[in-house]
Amino acid sequence: MGAPESFTATSEVGHYIGGRVVAGSGARSQPVYNPALGRVARQVTLGTADDVEAAVAAAQAAFPAWADTPPIRRARVLNNFLALLNQHKDTLAAMITAEHGKVFTDAQGEVSRGIDIVEFACGAPQLLKGDFTDQVSTGIDNWTLRQPLGVVAGITPFNFPCMVPCWMFPLAIACGNSFILKPSERDPSPSLFMAELLQQAGLPDGVFNVVQGDKIVVDALLAHPNVKALSFVGSTPIAQYIYETGAHHGKRVQALGGAKNHMVVMPDADLEQTVDALIGAAYGSAGERCMAISAAVLVGDVGDRIVPLLAERARALKIKNGMELDAEMGPVVTRQALERIEGYIGLGVEEGAQLVVDGRGIEVPGHAEGFFTGGTLFDHVTPAMRIYKEEIFGPVLVCVRAKTFAEAVQLVNDHEYGNGVACYTRDGNVAREFARRIQVGMVGINVPIPVPMAWHGFGGWKRSLFGDMHAYGEEGVRFYTRQKSIMQRWPESTAKGAEFVMPTAR
Ligand code: NAD
Repeated sequence: MGAPESFTATSEVGHYIGGRVVAGSGARSQPVYNPALGRVARQVTLGTADDVEAAVAAAQAAFPAWADTPPIRRARVLNNFLALLNQHKDTLAAMITAEHGKVFTDAQGEVSRGIDIVEFACGAPQLLKGDFTDQVSTGIDNWTLRQPLGVVAGITPFNFPCMVPCWMFPLAIACGNSFILKPSERDPSPSLFMAELLQQAGLPDGVFNVVQGDKIVVDALLAHPNVKALSFVGSTPIAQYIYETGAHHGKRVQALGGAKNHMVVMPDADLEQTVDALIGAAYGSAGERCMAISAAVLVGDVGDRIVPLLAERARALKIKNGMELDAEMGPVVTRQALERIEGYIGLGVEEGAQLVVDGRGIEVPGHAEGFFTGGTLFDHVTPAMRIYKEEIFGPVLVCVRAKTFAEAVQLVNDHEYGNGVACYTRDGNVAREFARRIQVGMVGINVPIPVPMAWHGFGGWKRSLFGDMHAYGEEGVRFYTRQKSIMQRWPESTAKGAEFVMPTAR
């Protein structure tokens, strides 16, 4: 592959309402950084309640006709969008690298996983097919169908500015809803680009809208009576807030939160494969993935054998501007994130953990102002330490020792988060027991980051998910529709006379 082209636009990133890019009604904006350079690259408009009002009005106006459009025609628009996404994959990936910092090849992977969901949503006619029972009673049939909710909204985090919105809007619009996206203010450009591709694909104006901004926009969406459902992905305190406030306003809410994903390494695990898996899963995307492995539970004697191998690899990570194709890890997203992560490293030392590799203070040639930190590795971390309990969301791997498999399982089950987990072993029975007993929503057996495919659905347990349904897959279809049951008979098949008892099958 030749060198990819960098994304360098400097114009302010606005909203997308009713099929047009608009500047919005307020005077507020915020800088968007290129994290590798540590420089402001452009500004993003921060929306107001009036902007939300305008977006809801546009979405509400577009809803009836879109909901009435046959699912196969909605799917054809998504098919066009799919082709455009494939065509512009590298442009989107470069935008992601420019504003998030992750390496370009990882950004391409993010776009691909978003594309998977669009492909799934193209099956709208099959997904929306109802159930029918002939003759529930003599001359009576009963069927169920699923209808769209109306205007629905998605609020997304900085760490997957393309993929996480794709967990939401393709299915929401395939189901006949209109959609308002509130992307992260840290990396807003991909949302506008996708809006333009949707328009090119033939999506009617107003079916997909973007309102840029912060809490002001989120609160206006939460309180708006015409927003019927909210999907949120982000940190746990905000997920809980969205869930509670949305429920208070009578909305359907799914709110995916933070994580502390464990990998349990059994003494019989293939060491080389396990080291590869841990290094990629802990330090890929600078640890800024909700499915990153941030805690390794080393069972029995494997700890003493694996920690030196991990240390050697953590020290050798190629940390560069993500647009360089041999980069393994880029910068973190903001200076505040860098300070938070390095603050946690200091805290781990104070708490008495053994700092095996210290990523603080690394220098990347030509990028003195970039938000870079190296891979950090702690050993002999205990469950009481904050660096074990809290989500650091950076390239910091903490190793905890456990004597037995049962102790390792207990440790994972006692943690407040339950997003993803992995077990590395060659023992089928251990693997089976692990998958059955672990209190976590997504489980990998010798798979470090088990992000489910588009048709399986994504979601954690415990404080990693507030709500009843997982994102995308069939759960996503259920989330964005409501069931209607219809019972029918015709005069010719009807018995005469009023009925005063509860009807039963006759
Ligand atoms: P965040 O919670 O700070 O922000 C997420 C969204 O909420 C953004 O759009 C932001 O503008 C908005 N927001 C922030 N503060 C708010 C407030 N006080 N009131 C209302 N809205 C607010 O999360 P982030 O830093 O963008 O993303 C990283 C977090 O997301 C991590 O905790 C990570 O684990 C989590 N995450 C989880 C999943 C998952 O599937 N469970 C996936 C990706 C990221």
